[in-house]
Amino acid sequence: MRGRGGDDEAQHPREAGWYPDPWSADGKGERYFDGKKWGTSERPLARAATVTSLAPRRARARNGLRKYGALLAFIAAVLVVWGLPKVLHHGSNRATVVEVPGPTITLPDRPPPSAEEAASPLGAPAPVPAGNGKFEIMRYQPAAPTVPVAWDPCRPVHYVVNGAGAPPDGTRLIRTAIARLQAATGLHFVADGPTAERPSRFRAAYEPKLYPGRWAPVLIAWSNENAYPDLAGYVAGEAGPVAVPGSDTRLVYVSGQVVLDDRDLSVARLPDRGLALAIIQHELGHLAGLAHTSDRRQLMFSETEFNVRNYAQGDLRGLSLLGRQACFPGV
Ligand SMILES: [Zn+2]
Repeated sequence: MRGRGGDDEAQHPREAGWYPDPWSADGKGERYFDGKKWGTSERPLARAATVTSLAPRRARARNGLRKYGALLAFIAAVLVVWGLPKVLHHGSNRATVVEVPGPTITLPDRPPPSAEEAASPLGAPAPVPAGNGKFEIMRYQPAAPTVPVAWDPCRPVHYVVNGAGAPPDGTRLIRTAIARLQAATGLHFVADGPTAERPSRFRAAYEPKLYPGRWAPVLIAWSNENAYPDLAGYVAGEAGPVAVPGSDTRLVYVSGQVVLDDRDLSVARLPDRGLALAIIQHELGHLAGLAHTSDRRQLMFSETEFNVRNYAQGDLRGLSLLGRQACFPGV
């Protein structure tokens, strides 16, 4: 299935040419590798996950740049989980688990199982209206290709916010977006307050110095392309969850990151604040585990559609499904 491991070859082919885009909405998209880096993905329905583009009028003229940024973001998201063995040798952050085909290796600095785990889900997703809207799941369980990887509904999802550079309404926008995601998924979100932690494409799921004894909370941070190059061009945000294996081969999201472009989402550049909220909701959709859909009526379409201001029917169906997955008491 899309999003599975073993993509190193696909990320860095030996020769220039068109290659399958593992993140395309229908699995049939392609992207171009020029011999050094990924370029355009103009062929049919090529979409990169974890990125929202702003201003589609202009983005169209600079699609290559935008898509390239989007692909970088995707590769970064992949590296967060699949690149753990490399990260292990790289920085001060020791990865907590190594996810490779076969047995799961658990390292000693994995936090103890959460004491917040309840016996049953903390909430239930809101009823989904009837309709035929589409959605795409970001990742499926390796041993069960129809079962989405999701957050544990039996425990709260903690998040911290780095508000440096945020627009004046940043706090309100994030709170509103979180509330809508909570309603749609039934997941319980808990604000742990502000942080000075900066976003990083290699942020670990466990950061014992900052958050001892527990998985790192979701980091929601405002940034820009100078500090966080993935936001270059018309990319207004990037988001994704981090999965770890439970006691078996099944994966569960335990942490994640949402990076919002403080320039693209500024009041000056985006006076339509409803659109700013929609973009943040889109990023939170990625955090929950949705990929892009080819359905333009949905908020999880890859480009900003000015008439889609909230989760639509397909989005809600996907978020409801993601909110009803298994609990992981041992994680
Ligand atoms: Zn996106």
